[in-house]
Formats: sequence, C-alpha cells, structure tokens
Amino acid sequence: MPTLIPILGDQLSHSLASLRAVPKSEAIILMMEVTEEATHVPHHPQKIALFFSAMRHFAAELREQGWTVDYVTLDDAQNTGGFTHEVTRAAARHAASRIVTVKAGEWRVLAAQASWPNVTLLDDDRFLCSIDQFAAWAAPRKRLVMEDFYRIMRRQTGLLMDGDQPIGGQWNYDADNRKAVPKGHRFTPPLRFAPDAITAEVLALVRTRFDNHFGALDSFAWPVTRHHALEALHDFITHRLPGFGDYQDAMVTGEDVLNHSLLSPALNLGLLSPLEVCQAAQAAFHAGTAPLNAVEGFIRQIIGWREYVRGLYWFAGPDYTSRNHLNAHRPLPALFWGAPTDLKCLSEAVDATRRNAMAHHIQRLMILGNFAMLTGTDPAEVHRWYLAVYADALEWVEAPNVIGMSQFADGGLMATKPYAAGGAYVNRMGNHCRTCRYDVKARTGPTACPLNSLYWDFLARHEETLASNQRLWRMYDGWRRFSADEQQRIRAQAATFLANLA
Ligand SMILES: Cc1cc2nc3c(=O)[nH]c(=O)nc-3n(C[C@H](O)[C@H](O)[C@H](O)COP(=O)(O)OP(=O)(O)OC[C@H]3O[C@@H](n4cnc5c(N)ncnc54)[C@H](O)[C@@H]3O)c2cc1C
Ligand code: SF4
Repeated sequence: MPTLIPILGDQLSHSLASLRAVPKSEAIILMMEVTEEATHVPHHPQKIALFFSAMRHFAAELREQGWTVDYVTLDDAQNTGGFTHEVTRAAARHAASRIVTVKAGEWRVLAAQASWPNVTLLDDDRFLCSIDQFAAWAAPRKRLVMEDFYRIMRRQTGLLMDGDQPIGGQWNYDADNRKAVPKGHRFTPPLRFAPDAITAEVLALVRTRFDNHFGALDSFAWPVTRHHALEALHDFITHRLPGFGDYQDAMVTGEDVLNHSLLSPALNLGLLSPLEVCQAAQAAFHAGTAPLNAVEGFIRQIIGWREYVRGLYWFAGPDYTSRNHLNAHRPLPALFWGAPTDLKCLSEAVDATRRNAMAHHIQRLMILGNFAMLTGTDPAEVHRWYLAVYADALEWVEAPNVIGMSQFADGGLMATKPYAAGGAYVNRMGNHCRTCRYDVKARTGPTACPLNSLYWDFLARHEETLASNQRLWRMYDGWRRFSADEQQRIRAQAATFLANLA
C-alpha cells in the first residue's frame, strides 16, 4: 500500500525530508490548493499566484523525475477547501497505509497536521539551526541577542571565517553601511520573470477568485521555479550585492528595490536554500566582486536574522501572535488598505506594497511598523495585515518581525527597545520629506510632520512602562526638557491627528 506525502506550498525543495524518507515507487505526493489557506487572511493576489504557480511548476518537475503526484487545483469540483479534509480524501482515494509529511512552518497548520491519521511528522531540516538547537541556546538566556546567535551561526557554517575568527577581524561591518544615497544615483532594476503558460493560467484563476483582495496582479514577475530563482540570485550577486551594505537602510522616492535582493519569496518557498545563497555571496567576496561590508551584511540577514526569527517563533510558543505588551487597541488605519494619505513616506510604502506585494525592510519596520506602533494600533491587526500583503509572508518569519521587532508587543523578548522614530529619522534615511506636504522639522502647527508629535506622544503615553529602559534614557531626557506648555501642545497635536485617523 502506498505512502501519502502531502507537500505544502512553502515546501518546494527537491531535497525535502519527506522526499528523502520514502522510495519513489511507494510514494504518492499530494499537493493541494485550498481556499482556507488562500483566505484565512486576505492575501495579496500576487502572493496567492506566486504560491499556486510555484506549486504547479514544482509538481511538474516532480512528475518529470518519476514521482507520482496527485495535484488538487483550487477549482477542482471535489476540492473541500481545507488541508485536513483533502488529506483524508486522498488517503482514502489511494488506500494509503500511512502519511509522511514535513512539519508546517506555522503553529496553526502544525496542529492540523498532528490530527491526520497515521501520520509521521518530519522536522523541516532546510534551516541551518534546528528548533531544538535554538531552544537550547535561548532557554538559559535573559536576553536573546541576535548578534550572539549570529556568531554561533558563523562558526557553525564557516561562512566568512578564518579558522575560529571572522575574516577581516570584525564580526559586523555595519559601521561602514547605511550611507545616504548620492543625488542622481542609479540603481540596477532586478530581473523580472514573464509569466509562462502555467503562471498565466494561475493569474486568470486568481483574478477570478480573489479580485476583492488588496493588491495589483498585473505586475506579477516573481521567480516561480528553482531555475528562475537561481537566475534571480545570480542577478542580485552580480548587480546589487556590491552596494548592498551602503544603502541598506535607505529610502528613495520611486525606487522600490534599491540594492535589496528580493530573494525572500524564493527562500521562503524553498526554491533556494539559505546556505547556497550565502555561499554565492561569499564567493563574490573571494572573487573580489563584492566588498566585505556588503557580503557580511547580507549573510548576517540570512544566517543571523532569518534563522534567529524562525527559532524565536517556535521558542515563544503558539500564543505569540496575541501578545500586546503596550496594550494597543486601535483598529488598523484604513491607509494600510490604500485609503489616501498625505504622509509621503506612508503613501510610498503602502503603494509599493499594493503594486509589488513587497516593501523593503526599512519601509516595513520604520515607516509602516513605526506608524502602527506610534498610533497605538492593535498588534494582532498589524500582524494579520503583514501576513496578508507580502509575497514572502509566512508566519514563522512575519510574526517575530511584526509582533516583536516592529510593535514591541512581546515586551522585549526580541528587541531591546521599541523601534520608534519621528520625522527626523525618515528625513535622514531618505528623500521622501522633500516632496511631502508636511514640514519634517516642525512638531506642532498645521503643517507639522505628524510623526513628530506622534513620537513624543507615544513616549509620554508609555512612560510608566518604558522610561526605565536604559536604551530609552536619552529620549525621555529629551521629552522632559520640553516645557510643560510645549509638552501639552505636542500631545494635543497628536490627539487631533489620532482623532482624525479614527
Ligand atoms: C515588520 C516586518 C515584517 C517582516 N515580514 C517578513 C515576512 O513576512 N517574510 C520575510 O521573509 N521577511 C520579513 N521581514 C524581514 C525583511 O524585511 C524581509 O525579509 C526583506 O525585506 C525581504 O526582502 P529582500 O529579500 O529584498 O531582503 P534583503 O534586504 O535582500 O535581505 C536578504 C535576506 O535576508 C533575510 N532577512 C533580512 N532581514 C530579515 C529579518 N528581519 N527577518 C528574517 N529574515 C530577514 C531575508 O530572507 C532576505 O531575503 C519583515 C521585517 C519587518 C520589519
Ligand atoms: S515630513 Fe513627515 S510625514 Fe512627510 S515624508 Fe517626512 S516623515 Fe513622512
């Protein structure tokens, strides 16, 4: 009797543990497009299309390699719309003796998998740090400092190492990074992938079924196969990696990508492995085509941040997404769903999200996340929005970044202080303020940048909870230096903005 191997939409790796565990001759692969997963949050149409197209291409590749694949499309008349029903139906259809599958990357789906009959759940070994290894590192620690974790991963992988020591003598070259973009600097646009017949069919399906979801579909150009993903990697290493560190935190009006890699969707779907991506970057350094500050910064994002947030997600437990340390309860402002806003930095970030199902890290953290936190928006609503709108959003990576890093809703498990900023930060890191109707230098008055009063109001509102944080000492010192009248004017300005926002 055959073994059923359900493969989920983010498990598109030919070296997947379940494919290694069962001989081809005994295996029936099951792949499912289910409504429940496409709608449990209103995913961006490009994200749904990316998953379905990449799944269909992967199924075709498996068949070419001699695997038997049972693929249930979304519009299959028999499709029940949920993983558990589809797995049960397929087990009966094929008279499967057992089910072997790789653990999902999300608590909710893992719980569903555990309920499947006669199931063996395999660890997802496509990460460099296992869940157990991370837990052993984290359990005895008071603070889960990413930089400490990163050094362990450098030693473990041997990336950019000279024996036991980092190449160049430093673990981190951020001091050389984050420069301002010179006026007139031209960025090389990333490679785009024109839809083939499979993708075109998926785009038509998504257009019919999900046209009420936020986001544009016409600009779809994501890599949907491993072959595409390798081309995208090569394009990044050649054209954008050399300047990756320099402008890593920059924001430029009209520039969606800058020197970012755009590799997160391919990595998160399993089309690329984290180690091969880092090895490609390391090879560029050894070949002399990319400098150390860029290569180290890029590798740190992957073997540091990406592995760290995945470990933290599983370490923190299934209630992580409902944490609300700052007791924030405002509904998500309508501008997140595209309602017009005259805050230029926000309109740029939301519009990039709408067009591309993507925004770069600083837009996610310091524009959108910062605004949500300053306005006291409910972190659970913020989390659901991020999970919905980004092509790379899987809960294991999205939730720690949103709940922990951007909203400080976990009370400091991940970040040592809230990433809160006023207009001065936005002005320093980019050029949006030049074309904004607000005056970035003003705190109060009809043209004052709203982020300024919101920033101080946020600190004042949470003084009891946050003022003892050593890393916020300077900010609170700044707040206390304002006269009582000025403090009152700032808070009134913020209150008016928040009232109008509602
Ligand atoms: C509020 C918020 C939400 C986020 N949500 C997601 C998400 O849903 N999915 C996701 O993959 N990333 C998320 N990130 C992390 C990061 O913003 C994206 O990985 C990055 O913007 C993807 O674009 P890129 O591939 O061009 O990244 P690059 O800037 O080129 O970075 C290279 C790679 O490093 C990894 N990486 C960088 N930063 C992080 C990080 N903080 N956590 C995990 N991996 C990282 C990614 O795999 C990325 O592809 C989020 C960050 C914030 C602040
Ligand atoms: S002035 Fe304020 S609102 Fe306008 S772009 Fe700058 S930071 Fe954003």
